[in-house]
Amino acid sequence: MKVKCILCDQVEEVEETSLLAKKLRKRRVMTYMCDTCRDRIDKKTEERLAKGKYREYREKKKDPYI
Ligand SMILES: [Zn+2]
Repeated sequence: MKVKCILCDQVEEVEETSLLAKKLRKRRVMTYMCDTCRDRIDKKTEERLAKGKYREYREKKKDPYI
């Protein structure tokens, strides 16, 4: 089956019998990323982790009025 990368719109062939294809058919995975984009995202995440900024985004700011 053919799947389109959500980031670069590149269409790739996924094996019908693969787990990914099954997930995509059942809509458990709504998004597909090609290897190139996944690598890029992984690197960005690693960079963020290295800089320690990843944690900041996850922390909730306290409401100053309470
Ligand atoms: Zn892509």
